[in-house]
Amino acid sequence: MPIANRYKVKLLNILNNSTDLKKILSSGSGIDKKRDEIKQWLVRTLKETYDENNDIPPLEYILTRNIIAVFQKMISLRSEKLAGFSILNYLCDLLNQPKDKTIEPPTPGFFSELEYLIKGIVGKSGIYDLNAPVFAKYKGRKAAALRSADLSRMARVSTKHMQKYNCGLDNAAIRRRYRNKNRILNHFNATELEWEKWQWHLRHIIRDADTLKELLRLSDEEFEAITLARQNKIPFGITPYYLSLMDFDTGGRRDKAIRAQVIPSLHYVRTLAEYKQRQDHSMDFMLESDTSPIDGITRRYPNIVILKPVLTCPQICVYCQRNWEIEDVYSAQAALSKNKLDSALQWIEKTEEINEVLITGGDPLLLSNKQLESIISRLAALPNIIRIRIGTRTLVTLPQRITESLVRNIGRFHIPGKRELIIVTHFEHPYEITPQSMHAVQKFRRNGMEVYNQQVFTYYNSRKFEACLLRQKLRLIGVTPYYTFNTKGKEETDDFRVPIPRLLQEQNEEARLMPGTVRTDEIVFNVPGLGKNYLKATQHHDLIAILPDGKRVYEFHPWEKKLSLADTYLYKDVSIYDYLQRLRTDGEDVRDYKSIWYYY
Ligand code: SF4
Repeated sequence: MPIANRYKVKLLNILNNSTDLKKILSSGSGIDKKRDEIKQWLVRTLKETYDENNDIPPLEYILTRNIIAVFQKMISLRSEKLAGFSILNYLCDLLNQPKDKTIEPPTPGFFSELEYLIKGIVGKSGIYDLNAPVFAKYKGRKAAALRSADLSRMARVSTKHMQKYNCGLDNAAIRRRYRNKNRILNHFNATELEWEKWQWHLRHIIRDADTLKELLRLSDEEFEAITLARQNKIPFGITPYYLSLMDFDTGGRRDKAIRAQVIPSLHYVRTLAEYKQRQDHSMDFMLESDTSPIDGITRRYPNIVILKPVLTCPQICVYCQRNWEIEDVYSAQAALSKNKLDSALQWIEKTEEINEVLITGGDPLLLSNKQLESIISRLAALPNIIRIRIGTRTLVTLPQRITESLVRNIGRFHIPGKRELIIVTHFEHPYEITPQSMHAVQKFRRNGMEVYNQQVFTYYNSRKFEACLLRQKLRLIGVTPYYTFNTKGKEETDDFRVPIPRLLQEQNEEARLMPGTVRTDEIVFNVPGLGKNYLKATQHHDLIAILPDGKRVYEFHPWEKKLSLADTYLYKDVSIYDYLQRLRTDGEDVRDYKSIWYYY
């Protein structure tokens, strides 16, 4: 059978879920008439669901209502114009196969999306068990006992998932890391005492594939990617401490999240190397240069500014949004010049509306205690500054940096009732949490400073209940989960990206099972040039298209909604189907993710 016919047959099979829709799409009417008829069919279906079909369980009915709204938006002329794609035209073309047109072939991801969408509209989503839970039929103690049994079953499911993942506080991990540390110390002919000095780690950052290969096994791809990265001046480096968190052997699942954090993929290096050659490609995905009124400052909100006194880190996260600004790992030239820093601080002083400063970079804890203290004391001298945040990942990459003297020196600026000094860090995986990072956190906490975590939700921490284990362990070491970011849509970091529906699913079906004191993080999409969009508030974004490659296009509303007429932002997500396929290849049971299609 010719390939185009095969697509047609597949599509007709899917349309068998709704004879009404099939009839409309297969008719000889023009596209506008079809659009109107589909809209009427959707209204009719909604009316039947609400007013005539009283047997439908409440949750199916809510689902139908939501999906109908999504489909209505998707087939509107506005959405088609914004997305530059008409699903309606596309479906008609697949059915009619016009000779004068080249049609982009539909992917399995597109067909899956369409199938779930139509099944959802007609009330056949299949995500719920056919029967309501038994406890609903009883009252009193009997109901409570059955409900309790049901809740225990849910708790066992979450525990079973969480037990699959490793935490750096497990005894076996502590022993493993102890052996790794000795291996690294032997390699550098160094002592335990030196290991405790943060400056020693900075002097011994591993910056090339050959040295790394002497310390642990690398796959051929890892070796090639690092070598290519160095040849193309793409920042790469690993602190000896962080290296000790990696298992000796490569290819295992246990330390995958740790390795992926710093060892780039070949795809990443090749794409970045190509971008670096091109004059027409800006690496500034977040459009920071459009929100920087002066060197060293970024401003996206009325009262808060970002101050970046140093643009380097002890090691570079592969997906870093500032990779366009960071020249190299722990590089000498990365600090803002004295003049520029002075001007940035003066700018903050003159901009009286600012009452909160986030000192970040790069990692500001690469500065000496004296330099840091000098910046904080100048900010603290401004009467309107009520909060100073320090954004640092050294708790994870170099916990030796958190010395008693550092904490004492900066802790004195934390004055209850007057000014808050808080630490914002970036743990990505429970396997990154170690006794050393816990002690570092505790030093801040003992001095009255809160420590918050910003997680980036990537492929490597997105399995069922994986982020829940991270939240749980973070709370136990004294860190409050703060934000969970959707991975940026940068092409070079496609390996990291997770579809937005997975983030929504995680919040609704996994995080929701945890107490409110633990699931404190807000899931956000950081809109380039604008600021955070709160993903849980689904009224602040719209799904406007599903493309032939199975990728969804979203329209994100700016945080200024109802305050000013800022523009919206279009975003092409990664395909749910491809994400699930990858999980399947990595041994996940994708049935555990079946409701993902019904998050928008
Ligand atoms: S710690 Fe932050 S600034 Fe540094 S590389 Fe990672 S994401 Fe970028």
